Amino acid sequence: MHYFQYRNSELYCEDLPVRAIAEQVGTPLYLYSRATLVRHFDAFDGGFGDVDHLTCFAVKACSNIGILNIFAGMGGGADIVSGGELFRALKAGVAPDRIVYSGVGKTAAEMREALEAGILLFNVESSQELDRLQQVAAELGVQAPVALRVNPDVDPKTHAYISTGLARNKFGIPVDAAFDEYLRARTMANIEIRGVSCHIGSQLTRVEPFLEALRKLKVFVGRLREEGIEIQYLDLGGGVGITYNDEEPPHPHEYARAIREELGGLTCTLILEPGRVIVGNAGILVTEVQYTKVNSGGARKKRFVIVDAAMNDLSRPSLYGAFHEILPVVRSRADNLLVDVVGPICETGDFMARDRMLPAVHQGDLLAIMSSGAYGFTMSSNYNSRPRPAEVLVTGREFSVIRRREQYRDLIRGEQIPGQEQS
Ligand SMILES: *Cc1c(COP(=O)(O)O)cnc(C)c1O
Repeated sequence: MHYFQYRNSELYCEDLPVRAIAEQVGTPLYLYSRATLVRHFDAFDGGFGDVDHLTCFAVKACSNIGILNIFAGMGGGADIVSGGELFRALKAGVAPDRIVYSGVGKTAAEMREALEAGILLFNVESSQELDRLQQVAAELGVQAPVALRVNPDVDPKTHAYISTGLARNKFGIPVDAAFDEYLRARTMANIEIRGVSCHIGSQLTRVEPFLEALRKLKVFVGRLREEGIEIQYLDLGGGVGITYNDEEPPHPHEYARAIREELGGLTCTLILEPGRVIVGNAGILVTEVQYTKVNSGGARKKRFVIVDAAMNDLSRPSLYGAFHEILPVVRSRADNLLVDVVGPICETGDFMARDRMLPAVHQGDLLAIMSSGAYGFTMSSNYNSRPRPAEVLVTGREFSVIRRREQYRDLIRGEQIPGQEQS
């Protein structure tokens, strides 16, 4: 459920017409609904009820501090994958002792920053990383709180680029090797073992792979405890999918119920790292039609709708062939046409939708690219020297610009012509 709905023939975000916001802020524009963000966080977090748990929002899905601050205010933590995300999470008001740090390539500098901040948990992904963390912690004279990220070799049945829990993926440590690493970690003076973690992939539409991973982790935790290694936290990662088109992912409550049942009597504080399921359908990308044209070559006529949003603003269609529903911001009675919705970038891969039935649109019309809240703005770039879009948060009848549209001078910030003073 989200709060982007038509009233009469106008698309609203909560109690504001999308068109009115676009007229003031310009396009392209990312628009988020606070009520949707709050509802989704509540639904996810609430599903675990009285089970001892911590919901750490995956910052990489949507990292604007105006949005992270909402989850922090609801008692949420953060799952980070870089020093930059640590900086954002702290600026947004996330409590350091609710931050978990994942990722295969943490630098010594990033480790230092996270240790100084006092985060809850490092999810360590290799033997060398464990050694480095021990060394950095020793230099600072502190204990590094650690979980090893286990690769449970489970097929999440999702897009190959976003499946992470298979033996052939770069993530985590295979179960048997992880056991030896725990024995080693136990002997390290500045490593404090706190938990076990995993994350098997993103946009999962079935519960079974999560349960399969959990079953393997339970056995593993049992083995560690037999060795006298105390496991306080069990981090199950993120990955619950959403409906972009016709997917039927589990409702967060169904997911939580299945996890709770499978957990049985295991005594651990659960950590969850949801990203997409919270923000995905809470944001849209609003774009304006610039041109329409028909290219007729050979037997087939091809219609294009050229909009002012491009693969640099929303890369999921180009990158994964992802489907995003496209809705007219003002509904018309025009007949449907089969079109490609494309951006202005000089690449054939620059499309928002291909072979899509859409009501005929005209220059100046606004379109809403739905389900753009996750991995939308955070994956945007300045390719083709395009300033990145504004981000706007709607709360009832009010809206705030939570990131102003970039200007041309932002494009060359930090650049220099050798021998010249910076302009
Ligand atoms: C990306 C990622 C997540 C979030 O995944 P979603 O599919 O957005 O829920 C959680 N944990 C880790 C370690 C990740 O890399």
